[in-house]
Amino acid sequence: MIPAAPLALQPVRWQDQWRDGVRDPAELLSLLGLDALATRLSPAAMAQFPLRVPRAFVARMRHGDPADPLLRQVLPLDDEDLIAPGFSWDAVGDAAAKAADGVLHKYRGRALLITTGSCAVNCRYCFRRHFPYADETAARGDWREAVAAIAADPTIEEVLLSGGDPLSLSTPKLDDLTCQLAALPQVKRLRIHSRLPVVLPARIDDAFIAWMSALPWPVTFVIHANHANEFDGEVDAALGRLRDAGAILLNQAVLLRGVNDSIDALADLSERGFQAGVLPYYLHQLDRVQGAAHFEVDDDTALALHRALAARLSGYLVPHLVREVAGDPGKRPL
Ligand SMILES: *Cc1c(COP(=O)(O)O)cnc(C)c1O
Ligand code: SF4
Repeated sequence: MIPAAPLALQPVRWQDQWRDGVRDPAELLSLLGLDALATRLSPAAMAQFPLRVPRAFVARMRHGDPADPLLRQVLPLDDEDLIAPGFSWDAVGDAAAKAADGVLHKYRGRALLITTGSCAVNCRYCFRRHFPYADETAARGDWREAVAAIAADPTIEEVLLSGGDPLSLSTPKLDDLTCQLAALPQVKRLRIHSRLPVVLPARIDDAFIAWMSALPWPVTFVIHANHANEFDGEVDAALGRLRDAGAILLNQAVLLRGVNDSIDALADLSERGFQAGVLPYYLHQLDRVQGAAHFEVDDDTALALHRALAARLSGYLVPHLVREVAGDPGKRPL
């Protein structure tokens, strides 16, 4: 286990926990008793997309296990230096779906807001490692351009807050957005896509719950957990608060080699999530971004895993196996 500081000495506010996250790979390896792995770190990968992980997430990694499924998601290893054919810089074709800065209108009735480029954790497989976020977020200009783009299209009934991680913004900043959206009669649903209830559960604090409870729409909250070990009592409590505040909780995961590419891992993920009140939604094939090729699971294996999962679990515990294809009207079933 991680040598824990006495509780009273640990930072409590989520902003402090955010700042206190681990950024030095040598420190992470030392915390886990894995110093020997240091020779496998990639300086190029670290420079391009630095290590970043909250201590609350590190605490759920197994000590002394270089194959730990949580560690693999965040550690910049030299596998990332592999140049693989077909792996590119804009793997999801977002550039073509832009309706305004930070507003993606790709699918019917739904507008996705890139609220921020910031995340508490840098996940090695994420397309975010290449997306030019700096000046393209919807939060620019106090959200006005983004809200105007939604207002101009009466077919948009659902607004998705995505990013980066929308919960990296302060609650007042989120409130500013939803107050403006509340004036648009066509908006009927709000969806939040965030990994923070899992990687930094302290983010789900009283102020956040008060904000969410007061929203004028039904809220769907899509968490992002890839492995059952990402849940613990603190995460369960954060998810319980979201549910008590009325949110429908769904999970989307990415199928990742060496993390969750087994029937047991996928079944455990669905079952553990359900125990916390979360239903599986999507299991994504990896976006083919440069540096993530070693995580890829081929389609035949993915389909076989998915069939085995469907034969083992209740129907509602089986996620849709999908891939994002540029130009499609929705996520494409495999
Ligand atoms: C994935 C995605 C959505 C949501 O799709 P659902 O199938 O409704 O979950 C909406 N907009 C964009 C741009 C997306 O990438
Ligand atoms: S957007 Fe999600 S998957 Fe990507 S780095 Fe942030 S938390 Fe991780």
